[in-house]
Amino acid sequence: MQVKMSKGFGTSEPYESLHEWDCFVQGGTGGLVISKSGNYSTCFIEVFPKNPDCFIRGEGKTIQEADDAAWAKYQKIKSCTHEMERRNRTDGYDYCKHCSYSATVFEPLTRCCKCKEPTAYTYDFRKKWYCKKHSRLKPKDPNQKVDLWGGEKITPRKLKKLWKKCATAVLRSNGRMGKVIPKLKYGRHFECDGYMLMMDFQRQKDIVIKRGLELIASLKRARLKVK
Ligand SMILES: [Zn+2]
Ligand SMILES: [Zn+2]
Repeated sequence: MQVKMSKGFGTSEPYESLHEWDCFVQGGTGGLVISKSGNYSTCFIEVFPKNPDCFIRGEGKTIQEADDAAWAKYQKIKSCTHEMERRNRTDGYDYCKHCSYSATVFEPLTRCCKCKEPTAYTYDFRKKWYCKKHSRLKPKDPNQKVDLWGGEKITPRKLKKLWKKCATAVLRSNGRMGKVIPKLKYGRHFECDGYMLMMDFQRQKDIVIKRGLELIASLKRARLKVK
C-alpha cells in the first residue's frame, strides 16, 4: 500500500509499503526524536490500527527499516496475551508489559469530587476532578488571567480595580464628586451620588473603560503640563 509522507522534512514522495496494512499509515524522514541519551534524527512510520485500537511507531535509518520495525511490533501485538500495567498514569491508559500495545483498559484512579465515579475527564485549579456530567460545576481559577484587548491579559482582581478607576474618572467628568461604590455582586454597576453607572454588558464595560482610560490619560497630560 502507498504511505503518505509528511511534508517538511526530506522527501514528501509517497512510499510504497511491502506490508499489508489495513489501516491509516503515515511516515516521514528526518523526524527528530528527543531522548535522554541524546536527540537523533530518524525515519519513521506511524500506524493507527483499528483492531486492536492502538498506535504504533516504527523507526529506522531508512523508511523501509522503520516500516519493518512497525510491522514487527504489529505482529507482536496481534499474537500477544497482553498484560496491562498503568506505569505512572492515573487516567486509565495502560501499556502491555510484553509488547508495544497501549490503550485505555483500566478505570481512571481519580474520582469525580461530586459523584465519586472514577473519571479523568477534567480537573480544576485545585486539582479536583470532575466527570463529564459534573464538569459544568468546575469553578474558575480566580487567578486565571482574562483577555482585555489586543491579547493583553489581566487577573479578575486587577480588572475590577481597573473598572473602578475608569468608572470614577467617568463619574467625575460628569460632575459627580461623591463616593464611588462598586455594586458588583448582583449585576455590575457603580453608584455615586444616587446615580448608577451600568457595566452589565460587555458594550457598557467597553465604553466605560475606553472613556475612563482616555480621561485618566488626559488628566496625566494636563498634570505634566502644569509641572
Ligand atoms: Zn501485549
Ligand atoms: Zn460526577
